[in-house]
Amino acid sequence: MGSHGNDSLESSVKIPTIKFTKLFINGEFVDSISGKTFETIDPRTGEAIARIAEGDKEDVDLAVNAARHAFDNGPWPRLPGSERAKRMMKFADLIDQNVEELAALDTLDAGKLFSMGKAVDIPSSADTLRYYAGAADKIHGDVLKMSREFHAYTLHEPIGVVGHIIPWNFPSTLFFLKVSPALAAGCTMIVKPAEQTPLSALYYAHLAKLAGIPDGVLNVVTGFGPTAGAAICSHMDIDAVSFTGSTEVGRMVMKAAAESNLKVVSLELGGKSPLIIFDDADVDMAAQLALIGILFNKGEICVASSRVYVQEGIYDKLVKKLVEMAKAWVVGDPFDPKVQQGPQVDKEQFEKILTYIEHGKREGATLLTGGKPLALGGKGYYVEPTIFAEVKEDMLIAKDEIFGPVLALAKFKTIDEAIKRANSTRYGLAAGIVTKDLNVANTVSRSLRAGTIWINCYFAFGNDCPFGGYKMSGFGRDSGLEALHKYLQVKSVVTPLYNSPW
Ligand code: NAD
Repeated sequence: MGSHGNDSLESSVKIPTIKFTKLFINGEFVDSISGKTFETIDPRTGEAIARIAEGDKEDVDLAVNAARHAFDNGPWPRLPGSERAKRMMKFADLIDQNVEELAALDTLDAGKLFSMGKAVDIPSSADTLRYYAGAADKIHGDVLKMSREFHAYTLHEPIGVVGHIIPWNFPSTLFFLKVSPALAAGCTMIVKPAEQTPLSALYYAHLAKLAGIPDGVLNVVTGFGPTAGAAICSHMDIDAVSFTGSTEVGRMVMKAAAESNLKVVSLELGGKSPLIIFDDADVDMAAQLALIGILFNKGEICVASSRVYVQEGIYDKLVKKLVEMAKAWVVGDPFDPKVQQGPQVDKEQFEKILTYIEHGKREGATLLTGGKPLALGGKGYYVEPTIFAEVKEDMLIAKDEIFGPVLALAKFKTIDEAIKRANSTRYGLAAGIVTKDLNVANTVSRSLRAGTIWINCYFAFGNDCPFGGYKMSGFGRDSGLEALHKYLQVKSVVTPLYNSPW
């Protein structure tokens, strides 16, 4: 496989200076009450980029007070939807004006490809804001008949103060998948970005203020999960928590919500998504989907096609092609436009992936390519694109979400076998099918228990396309109007008519 060093890069890409490192509460950047800070690390080098304010329970309390006040007394929930929309549009325009700097922050923090951030993550974040801005003045209930004696209607009201907890793999995309519908609904909120990737979230707080989002509406508390994150989940004055992250932590979020004020919970969790390739598939296209499905964003994507099932007639050809392509895949500095895969987000993730690779070898899967760390200049958390074949469903590498560039391949004979094996997982986030046969595609899509099914494509996302999990991949949907309704609640209003006995 290819690799690329980073000697001449610092001169060709403008690495931004870090402007925002403090908590953003009630429209101001402030130190944490404890005064504590933590380092955010560049995964290309393992070195610190900046020190960031470390929020804890007391800081969450301050942010919740600000958000509560902004919700109960401030203008945001009371503004006409069209006025909220104008400010959200302005927010989106400000993002567009700072695309390079924002993309560079996510590359520095998470090792994501700079070219991808510039072309996709950041512009599409602005578009997510615009999509929900378009919905902000179209929120309405229904007029109900009930019976002849009543006039009744429903109001769709903002749910209140929302806590958004997000992971590190898509720091910008996930920030806006949470914040945009909640803003459109008229909610106020606290966002806790992942401790690995606080930089862009703080920049977005600054842009929100410039866009005229009132103080207290959007607060950002940086810090760790067991402290700041847990304080959000168990807070008595937060009305809803929208969480994206691991299934393990999702369970804690739900428990804390149940044991505090029964706040509304939505969970977007992990996955172990299958891609099923049938005999009639175009080999080149199928190999390309399988490769991108596992290597995009270095495998750090909840919907990665980490299990690929290939029908026996096409198996040998497909595997040959896939391995060739994986060997040519370029790993290196994510600022380099020629590079296709940057470093894993941090040392912990890097070591976790390598441990799973060792499990795969020990459990008897056949290692076709990769399987080692890549020491690029002796620094950074790079892992070779890795493909295992003859993987069985009871092996750890087939069961667990590895969240890295590690693919588990297996051969199947019949459609029924493929469906059964694809469904043999506790997760249900996404699945892919590659076939030219419409009957096969339709039958298999209905039989797979997953929230998104991609037929002859993979990673096809859109703001209007709801996204979320079945089974232990969670519940609730991000994207689409479904997500707007996560942040609304329905009130029924009933009045008697003039002649009624009431
Ligand atoms: P994680 O669960 O460790 O952390 C996610 C967030 O939760 C972070 O902000 C973290 O600080 C916080 N957190 C940790 N412990 C907490 C606690 N006790 N209480 C409250 N908050 C806490 O996940 P991660 O390692 O950052 O991200 C990877 C996971 O996210 C993977 O499982 C991936 O599949 C999942 N993910 C899911 C989706 C989706 O839409 N379904 C999207 C992206 C990532």
